[in-house]
Amino acid sequence: MKMKQIGTTTIDDFGRVLLQSEIRSMLGWQVGSQVDVYYADGNTALLQLAKEPRHDLCDICDEAERHITIKGINICKGCTENILQLSSFKLV
Ligand SMILES: [Zn+2]
Repeated sequence: MKMKQIGTTTIDDFGRVLLQSEIRSMLGWQVGSQVDVYYADGNTALLQLAKEPRHDLCDICDEAERHITIKGINICKGCTENILQLSSFKLV
């Protein structure tokens, strides 16, 4: 990945990093957008616009298959079958 510097900013007293409107506009980022922060080394980090969570995926295997939802967790048929198989084992 080739990177180029597009601005300089300062960390404020609350630890916030301001991205000027020109930079946000260039990136297409909106106020309130969620951003993932990746560590590269002691002097380098990378900001990446977080992906919108997909609510139609199984939370275990990420397959876009029909699923059931138990307490807010989406579980597809295949994973449900795996869980049922595991439940046949006796816990010691
Ligand atoms: Zn699944």
